[in-house]
Amino acid sequence: MANNTMKEIAEVLLDAQSVLIFPHINMDGDAVGSSVALCRQLRKLGKDCWILAEDAMPGNLVFIGQGYFTEDHELIKNADVSVCVDCGAFSRFPARKEKFLEGKKTVCIDHHQTTEEFCDYNYVDPMAAATGELIWTLLKEMGAEADAEIGQAIFAAIATDTGNFQYSNTTKNCHLIMAELYDWGVDTNKASVEIYENERLEKLQITVKALNTLEILGDNISKAAVAHITLADMDACGAEPAETDGVIDKLRSIRGVEYAAFLKEKEPGVIRVSMRAKRRGNVAEIASKYDGGGHIKAAGCTLYMSMEEALAVIKKELEAAAAAL
Ligand code: AMP
Ligand code: MN
Repeated sequence: MANNTMKEIAEVLLDAQSVLIFPHINMDGDAVGSSVALCRQLRKLGKDCWILAEDAMPGNLVFIGQGYFTEDHELIKNADVSVCVDCGAFSRFPARKEKFLEGKKTVCIDHHQTTEEFCDYNYVDPMAAATGELIWTLLKEMGAEADAEIGQAIFAAIATDTGNFQYSNTTKNCHLIMAELYDWGVDTNKASVEIYENERLEKLQITVKALNTLEILGDNISKAAVAHITLADMDACGAEPAETDGVIDKLRSIRGVEYAAFLKEKEPGVIRVSMRAKRRGNVAEIASKYDGGGHIKAAGCTLYMSMEEALAVIKKELEAAAAAL
């Protein structure tokens, strides 16, 4: 994978007048935070810039994203640059593929292990804990100065993708950026309350429902935890799509569990699979077998089959993976 330099990517953006930013579907803190930070800096530089989404933003991230997102494909026509952030394949922004390619130049800024070079300019660093880290470097390259709103977006990106600086992807660089964010005027407590302590009761209810389906597989040494949720469950709880996001972390947190999988029915016959590994193991490898991808310890894929069939497929994979540890 041949990366461009950040300087080259900064120059492409500085030369542009109009820029469209493309986060992945099922936006998370890193996708939203990275997109907002870049969008705000480009607007400050006088550029016409929007983040084009194809689904709703999770409620707990709305506080960083107001005024930057649109689903209107007509707002910018033939953008000088299309940038995809926190994703590196058309399958990660399927309904916006044509729009992305309409850009006169295309750029990818991502940190997924499974991303392959597919744009005119690419910066993919699987060692980065969050795309927000890469955006931070890019902003510096573009001459960005202290800005609390940009800082808050970078904070959200890095804090969420590192599990609040707990996961093994957390590095000194994450903390160095955090240290500087204090100088940028970021209120980390306020942002944390917005992100983590402002949940709807429906989210707790759907989590309870999911945990009631918990199955533990494997032996005493290394176990796998699997849970699932159907469309009927979502309806019954009145939960929004992103409100199942925390379930997978609960599964991984169980003592002895090395692998976790959460299966969610998106439509009849379409099952979204989220997978995690704890200390050892590689879920990106498993996801890749089913046209998905991600990181070694956090990956996902979509299975086109019934929930029963999908559960059988994933349980077999995780049982074998746990036994091999
Ligand atoms: P999730 O379980 O949806 O939180 O996804 C775990 C990680 O894998 C995230 O960083 C996702 O961006 C990434 N990921 C999920 N699905 C895919 C996919 N189909 N292709 C590439 N990366 C993915
Ligand atoms: Mn990310």
